[in-house]
Amino acid sequence: MSTLLTAPLNSGEATASSLSPRLRAWHAAGQDVAPEALLAEAFRYWGRDLALVTSFQAEGMVLLDMSLRLRPDLRVITLDTGRLPEATHEFMDQVSRHYLVPIEILSPEHAEVQRLVSQRGALGFRESRLDRQLCCQVRKVRPLEALFNGIERDAPAAWLAGLRREQTPSRSNAAQIAADDAHPGVWKLAPLAGWSATDVAAYSAAHAVPRHPLYDAGYSSIGCAPCTRAVQAGEGERAGRWWWEQDATKECGLHLTASGAPRRALDVALESLLG
Ligand code: SF4
Repeated sequence: MSTLLTAPLNSGEATASSLSPRLRAWHAAGQDVAPEALLAEAFRYWGRDLALVTSFQAEGMVLLDMSLRLRPDLRVITLDTGRLPEATHEFMDQVSRHYLVPIEILSPEHAEVQRLVSQRGALGFRESRLDRQLCCQVRKVRPLEALFNGIERDAPAAWLAGLRREQTPSRSNAAQIAADDAHPGVWKLAPLAGWSATDVAAYSAAHAVPRHPLYDAGYSSIGCAPCTRAVQAGEGERAGRWWWEQDATKECGLHLTASGAPRRALDVALESLLG
């Protein structure tokens, strides 16, 4: 963390007062700044408390390359869901050797995965959207919550994500600087929010950024092996993710508590799974 400005520890809500004056001004203006300028200011303020969380897709690789030029001791964090393609593991090793950077690997809780698989089956996530969300919750969401709650390792105060507005309608309003709704007290930065796929490709080519091998096999977005496939010409960028879910909405169903309060079906299922 910068010795000039003191960023607060993760607690409560991430409010603009917990940003540096320059970050606060950019956040208030709501207009994009050059990714390199944003990264330079963010590292100046948060130092090593700003981490890159990446699955090594093209956008994450651009951020990795840009960030290491500013911060050679960057914290690089990834999530191994236990269902990643072997190509991702191999690429992760390649990236670590190429940039001489250690990679922190988050894993889901073994006991939770065991319960999930024994109750819902090894491919249970294909049974329903709720099952799919439950699997993502156990294998992705909860390990990230543990990271930002500071369980087992230092919690970053802010993190870099490779999302771009063009990728999906749900990302079309993504801000470069935002309080992370999912993790109280944490800031989420998306320096490439306004970039196009062409911008990403141009930076990658200009800087010889290593490329995940599955792109050459027709993948345009890369996640867990059983939930990701190559895309056909004319399909959307993320059409290969959970392709069996046909309807566009991604909302959970609602359950009611005994007192009549609405609860997400996912919360009910998770509670039942974890006992
Ligand atoms: S992407 Fe598929 S395998 Fe991976 S956590 Fe989500 S449902 Fe499970």
